[in-house]
Amino acid sequence: MSAILAVVQGLWVTLRRSLPRPVTVQYPEERPHIYPRYRGRHVLNRHPDGLEKCVACGLCASACPTGAIYVEAAENSDAERHSPGERYARVYQVNMLRCIFCGFCQEVCPTGAVTLGPDFELTQYTRADAIYSKERLLVPVAQAGEPAQLLIGESVGEGEQAGKPAPLRPAPREQ
Ligand code: SF4
Ligand code: SF4
Repeated sequence: MSAILAVVQGLWVTLRRSLPRPVTVQYPEERPHIYPRYRGRHVLNRHPDGLEKCVACGLCASACPTGAIYVEAAENSDAERHSPGERYARVYQVNMLRCIFCGFCQEVCPTGAVTLGPDFELTQYTRADAIYSKERLLVPVAQAGEPAQLLIGESVGEGEQAGKPAPLRPAPREQ
């Protein structure tokens, strides 16, 4: 009797596994599920009061193994303040053609300014479009302090129009 039960159990497992639910999604109409620790496009975060978290220390650029990040610092002033620190990133660029999405830049950032968000839609038609400027990476003021997961699907920041190429600047290292 137990042998028959074992056979029935085995057949039931086979039957159940032969009728799997489809794992495909009808992208782009249907959005895929993005796991919380997915490392996609960089996001430059703001403090809840709207100030930029980046203080242009350059650690992310130093840690990047492919030289994908380019940072130029400028001094804050009382009349023009961008971040809580002495300096802010006047220019911040990520070359997505070099980036290997290792996450080192996020790991070393002392202020949590740069994080790898859930946006995976990084196709472009020109090399210049692959250079993501600060304006494209910075979260809008209205979303200051929100987690990057809320920014999925938004590849253009408030200061830049969709389709407008970012300025092409030389990255610090050769490939
Ligand atoms: S994810 Fe890695 S390769 Fe990409 S910019 Fe950051 S440190 Fe560089
Ligand atoms: S993103 Fe972080 S590590 Fe990079 S320059 Fe800004 S504060 Fe420094």
